[in-house]
Order: sequence, then C-alpha cells, then structure tokens
Amino acid sequence: EGFVRLGLAPELVQAVADLGYTQPTAVQEKAIPLAMGAADVAGRFIDLMVSSQTGSGKTAAFLLPVLHTLIQQQADADAAARAEFERAAADAAARGEAPPKRSKRKNPTHPRNFKAATPGALVLCPTRELAQQVAHDAIELVKHCKGLRIANVVGGMPYQLQIARLQNANLVVATPGRLLDLQRSMQIKLDQVQFLVVDEADRMLDLGFSDDLAEINQLTSERKQTMMFSATFAPRIQQLAMRVMHEGGASVK
Ligand code: AMP
Repeated sequence: EGFVRLGLAPELVQAVADLGYTQPTAVQEKAIPLAMGAADVAGRFIDLMVSSQTGSGKTAAFLLPVLHTLIQQQADADAAARAEFERAAADAAARGEAPPKRSKRKNPTHPRNFKAATPGALVLCPTRELAQQVAHDAIELVKHCKGLRIANVVGGMPYQLQIARLQNANLVVATPGRLLDLQRSMQIKLDQVQFLVVDEADRMLDLGFSDDLAEINQLTSERKQTMMFSATFAPRIQQLAMRVMHEGGASVK
C-alpha cells in the first residue's frame, strides 16, 4: 500500500486510511521521502523547495514527514524515560528501598506552572483561513497519536485561548504577525524548532511578510530543516529562499 511503502508511522498510515486516501499524490510521493531522509542525516539539513498548487495534496506532503519525525522522537524519549525509571526501580529494590514515585504531570494551564511553549515544528501560512485549514488537517492526521499536540496561532482569536492551547504544543501552525507578537511577549520560544515550513511562499511575499519570515528564521535554530512550498519558483521566491534556507537543498517540481 502506498503510504506504508513511504515508511510512515502506523498511526499516520491509519489516519490517512481513515481520510480515504489510498495512494500518495505526486507531490507527496516526491517530497515525503526527501523530507524524512533529511530528518535522519546527522548534521546536515537538506532544505526543500517544493512547487505545488492548492489541491495537489501539498499540506499532507509537509505534515506527514514532520509528524512522522515528531512521533519517532516522542517514542524515543518515552522509551528512554521508561528505561530510566526501571533502572531506578531496580536500584531501589537492590537496596531494599521503596520504588521511586512516578512524577505527576502538572496542570499546564495553572498560572504557577506557566512556561513558554517550545514547539519542535512550525508551519507558517499567509492567511488565517489557510492556517486554520492546515491545523485542522494536522489534527486529523494525529488522531491516533497519543500526546502530540497541535496549536493554531492566528490574528483575530482571543489571546488567552490561544496561549492555553499553545503550552505543550509540538507543532504550531501560525500566521507570521501573531507568532511574532507571542514570541515578543515570551509566550513562545522558537529555538527548539527543527522543522520550519513556509506554506504558499508566493502569497507570503504578496502580503509583505518577507521581513517577518526572515526574523522568524533568525529566532529558530540553525539546526533545522526548512521546507518552502510555492505555486511558482519566480526569482523573488528564490531570493526569499536564499534568505531563509541552507545551501545545497533540493527542489521538487
Ligand atoms: P491540498 O493541496 O493540501 O490543499 O489538498 C487538497 C485536497 O486533497 C484536500 O482536501 C486533501 O484532503 C486531499 N488529499 C490530500 N492527499 C490526498 C491523497 N493522497 N489522496 C486523496 N486525497 C488527498
């Protein structure tokens, strides 16, 4: 089956089947292996520039590989925490002591427990409507994943509601202006971002977001993978790519 062959996590293959997708679209077939491969290469980040129209399946082309890597990282972290707990329990038993207590999860919405959100993945969209659509698609795709959280950060929505959802978010889907507002008020830190997706880069430029994109890019780690999606590869898109991407990336048409 098509999505199994791409090597995606079973939770994602199931979600895709639930949505009724049987085969990857052309852009998914090309971009997903490149994006998943780049995530594994030690020390080298292969950025992607993808030419894609709305309706091509481009949203899943970036969401699936990003979510796949976040799932794998979470599974690795969970396994490490479990091994650590078991080692501590065995040590305690060997000394004839009571086993250690598992730490309780704190209520993240309590003001005392506030900490800035530190997402591992960031998707930037030119408009509120597109950001909401992408977040909606992401929520559909993670419905079989325990503990992967998606947050939407767009203008025109109450701050308090967005901030409550933002804490512990693994993937944030945002419009650039509101994201920078939350970054400046220290609600979100971008230095843990390992995947930066720029959706509809051509519309981003039309709407005057070029400097915001460059600023956001500066706030994220150098050690990340950037994927830029655009309807065209016009020279002004290439210029934006030069501002925000590593050299030696791959182009997908
Ligand atoms: P997009 O280009 O991301 O706006 O996607 C266009 C539409 O195609 C959306 O409604 C998706 O749900 C749908 N879609 C995405 N991937 C597939 C696929 N592999 N098979 C069938 N439909 C898909």
